[in-house]
Amino acid sequence: MSERGLLFILSGPSGVGKGTVRKALFESEGTELKYSVSMTTRQKRQGEQEGVDYFFRTREEFEEKIAAGEMLEYAEYVGNYYGTPLDYVNKTLDEGYDVFLEIEVLGAMKVKEKVPEGIFIFLTPPDLAELKSRIVNRGTDEMAVIDKRMSVAREEIEMMSHYDYAVVNDQVDKAVERIKHIIESEHCRVDRVVERYKNMLKEL
Ligand code: 5GP
Repeated sequence: MSERGLLFILSGPSGVGKGTVRKALFESEGTELKYSVSMTTRQKRQGEQEGVDYFFRTREEFEEKIAAGEMLEYAEYVGNYYGTPLDYVNKTLDEGYDVFLEIEVLGAMKVKEKVPEGIFIFLTPPDLAELKSRIVNRGTDEMAVIDKRMSVAREEIEMMSHYDYAVVNDQVDKAVERIKHIIESEHCRVDRVVERYKNMLKEL
């Protein structure tokens, strides 16, 4: 049987660009990661596809999944449920593939409780000023909304200490490279490879 894959969790404050970095990572060369498609109750946006971007479900359907214990984690974010279906993650890790989650911070902390051996990557804005300009540049929001988002972001940045790695998202391609280096390094950890070498010795 192949060795179990590793579970990577990319998270970070609202507006930092998690989705963009995740998409660029999966579009880049040499990635053998498997993306765990999340489930959500939010409306499908233009261009989004069922089963590719999300599994779009009603609140009722989502709550049934929660009750049946079929979610690894879930959180409510801006009035909608978002969550990670458990079955895909387990099955894919068992097949020996690395699995990649891109989720908000509350969900990430729930994963940490359940899967402490996961590798937790916190995506950070270069600084708060830039985070603010990114949020403002999205358009439409009132200053009060922006200020609220900023205070949430400040709290979330304090959460960084619960993570294994902090990756600065100064440029998307640089952030992607940093994540790839983390993935490669994690596979080189002695505690992950030593059993394989010990077994080789036994077979000599
Ligand atoms: P959006 O609606 O813009 O696609 O996503 C909103 C937020 O939900 C993003 O921060 C994204 O990372 C997060 N998110 C996406 N999927 C999941 C999930 O399965 N679980 C949790 N907890 N958050 C998720």
